[in-house]
Amino acid sequence: MRIVLLGPPGAGKGTQAKLLAARLSVPAISTGDIFRANVSMGTELGRQAKQYMDAGEYVPDHVTNGMVRDRLAEEDAKAGFLLDGYPRTREQVTTLDGMLADRGESLDRVVELRADRDALVDRLIKRALVEGRSDDTPEVIARRLDVYDEQTAPLVEVYSSRGLLVGVDGIGEVDEVTERVVAALGAPGE
Ligand code: ADP
Repeated sequence: MRIVLLGPPGAGKGTQAKLLAARLSVPAISTGDIFRANVSMGTELGRQAKQYMDAGEYVPDHVTNGMVRDRLAEEDAKAGFLLDGYPRTREQVTTLDGMLADRGESLDRVVELRADRDALVDRLIKRALVEGRSDDTPEVIARRLDVYDEQTAPLVEVYSSRGLLVGVDGIGEVDEVTERVVAALGAPGE
């Protein structure tokens, strides 16, 4: 299965991506995690990404696209993957289409995890206390939610028109949400 997980910051993509990947026996590929790992290792990629992440802005497409291309070329992604946090812009959608087409592949499903803004802010503020992520300050959280609305929310329509989208309510217990996604993946696209 080749799946994209879409949804605003705080919707629970990272948590669900790990659980779903284990259930579906595919790797969970999180662009946010890869960026954060590179920042903490002090790589050139991390250096390029950090200023954008800390401001709540997207890392430029040319940086992000190259990184995803390299990751998808790895052996474990040949039989399927679950992409968490990519694509987030129309340009990334086009790039991903091209990467997959080059391999004779295409996406099977796009899962949109839904939650209202109050719930998202609430979760992100709580996560800030637990994880201390540098982009979980109130100002940066507000910016990330706005950037999502501007640049990523339109992708819901793009994938919906392709018949790939399944929308899942992201509010509830973690396991409950996982079961909803698994059930939704069995059902035809919206
Ligand atoms: P969240 O979804 O909670 O905002 P992520 O961990 O998915 O957090 O991403 C953290 C940051 O990493 C983003 O705010 C952005 O700066 C960068 N990032 C992650 N994925 C992408 C992407 N596809 N394109 C551009 N930047 C990205």
